[in-house]
Amino acid sequence: MKKDIKSLDFDELHNEIVTLGLPKFRTKQIYEWLHKYGVSSFDEMTNISKELRKKLSDIYFISNCEIEQKYVSKIDETVKYLFRLYDGEYVESVIMKYKYGYTICVSSQVGCKMGCTFCASTLAGFKRNLEAGEIESQLHSAQKDLDIRISNVVLMGIGEPLDNYENVMKFIHNVNNENGLNISMRNITLSTCGIVPKIYDLMNEDLPITLTISLHAPNDIIRSRTMPVNNKWGITEVIKACKEYIKKTNRRVSFEYTLINNVNDTYECAKELSQRLSGMLCHVNLIPVNDVAERGNVKSSEENIHRFADVLKNNGINATIRRTLGSDINASCGQLRRKRNEVK
Ligand code: SAH
Repeated sequence: MKKDIKSLDFDELHNEIVTLGLPKFRTKQIYEWLHKYGVSSFDEMTNISKELRKKLSDIYFISNCEIEQKYVSKIDETVKYLFRLYDGEYVESVIMKYKYGYTICVSSQVGCKMGCTFCASTLAGFKRNLEAGEIESQLHSAQKDLDIRISNVVLMGIGEPLDNYENVMKFIHNVNNENGLNISMRNITLSTCGIVPKIYDLMNEDLPITLTISLHAPNDIIRSRTMPVNNKWGITEVIKACKEYIKKTNRRVSFEYTLINNVNDTYECAKELSQRLSGMLCHVNLIPVNDVAERGNVKSSEENIHRFADVLKNNGINATIRRTLGSDINASCGQLRRKRNEVK
């Protein structure tokens, strides 16, 4: 069994290099090829001798994401990829263009175990975790294909990042490394459905990334209806963890709140949410629910969306309504992998 060299962090790679009896400067050289230039074969490492390339390829492989399908939105240039992995599994990524640069939304697992009722990612079942190198390869493949540099990363694609904690941490450290893509921690956002013990673990890493919580309800009764994870860690525990996180890291926490008609978009819900979040250093992202055919989600009316935002703002809670990007290319994650699995 060959080892995945791209899923090692800088220190781990260095240990391997030393163990192989190679000179120390090779670590930086090889690390740059893998992480800064995103090569997919050892033969592309042109400042390394043929013998060494052969030796490396006998011991290691380089994880990769092949473009299986690509969709470009005609409305806003959003690009969505369906990537094929070494074992024939698929994940999705979305590239969004903003005034300040390009943001990629990456997947962290093949499928998801969390079972949120409105989400497409669970429908095709959970297969496996992504390796750190596979998460990073989504950036390299997209950058090469579009000839761009990505400045921001959101872990909001398929999967629950805190359910693949170690690989996700390694990915964050590798994309942040100055010998790699050198993306600032401040430009990295991790979104979770609320795995409370892992929020505390993340807090103790003390990284200046942005934490986002998929809240979607103001109380346990409504949240448990759509998010099974809430039966394990209720809303009070989730918000307590966020408060601790803010205290320790001094970073503002974001809450995602998907508005579903008559489920969680009433005046009472907005009022209750305001009370829950009162006094917190936080921001609420209101998202009109995306239609996923089998899920039967019904979007809130414009009137309800604006009323919800106004109630929050009037109660001193920072809130914005998220602009929809890539609506013509099924840009919300999970949808392409599902279709592809039906064909298989
Ligand atoms: N598992 C993590 C990462 C996925 S992020 C998490 O739950 O946060 C993807 C975001 O899109 C989550 O906030 C999720 O709740 C939301 N989402 C999923 N399906 C959606 C849909 N049909 N419409 C709008 N948002 C959706």
